[in-house]
Amino acid sequence: MQLNDKIIIITGASSGIGETAAVLFAAEGANVVLGARREKRLQQLAKRINDSGGSAAFLAGDVRTEAYADGLVQLATAEFGGLDGAFNNAGMMGETVPVPDMERANWNEVIATNLTSAFFAAKYQIPALKKRGRGSIVFTSSFVGYANGGMPGMGAYAASKAGLIGLAQSLSAEHGADGIRVNTLLPGGTRTAMSGDDAEIHEYIASLHPLGRMADPEEIAEAALFLMSNRASFVTGSALTVDGGISIRL
Ligand code: NAD
Repeated sequence: MQLNDKIIIITGASSGIGETAAVLFAAEGANVVLGARREKRLQQLAKRINDSGGSAAFLAGDVRTEAYADGLVQLATAEFGGLDGAFNNAGMMGETVPVPDMERANWNEVIATNLTSAFFAAKYQIPALKKRGRGSIVFTSSFVGYANGGMPGMGAYAASKAGLIGLAQSLSAEHGADGIRVNTLLPGGTRTAMSGDDAEIHEYIASLHPLGRMADPEEIAEAALFLMSNRASFVTGSALTVDGGISIRL
């Protein structure tokens, strides 16, 4: 198994890419620490994983708060004995409006949820990984943070997701000597709650991808698994597009 006995935090685990990754990582032998706001959903997912022979703990909270980042690391340590990796994946889209029409509150909320959360996560995860002498951190960015495919209304979201790429590169330079790898994962349009369930919108998003379709969350979770595992032992500071080619379209 690719993550045998590794202890891994996964945020945004209550749905979509995070939920799928939690199930996959647990099936690959990881002890998973599930984070998101909806406690009931985390409880159900932890039960599902534990009932099928895996190992999961959970803590509900808001990634915009520093104490929650600390709490997830503390839970990993108390429950399983340390930390080997984190898939910092929780995120939100916010309003999709041109910048002149955007409320400052939306900007602040998107930056706090998608980017400041990553700063908090790294602040507590890096010291825990250093104690193990190695580790892997993966942030879920987006193709929008790299080459936005010509999509309007994405100012705050794109800035937050581009910021993650810079943060990950900086962290990988700072902590490579500690054996810690830090990468970003850049999904293309993926079928989750975030992309909604409007068939017309799905068709439009699909048409922007050279592969002519959207991704299933499993296809994104597989790439997260690769970055988390020892198979990616020489991969750090990278921004891995898993985007059906949308970022090379224009
Ligand atoms: P989703 O809406 O199903 O999942 C988002 C998760 O983040 C949920 O578990 C939600 O509860 C959690 N979350 C949001 N705000 C939070 C907060 N303040 N505190 C704690 N948890 C919070 O959508 P998804 O598509 O699975 O999104 C996962 C990641 O993938 C996000 O970072 C998103 O930006 C990114 N992404 C998604 C797509 C797509 O097309 N779906 C494309 C590129 C990148």
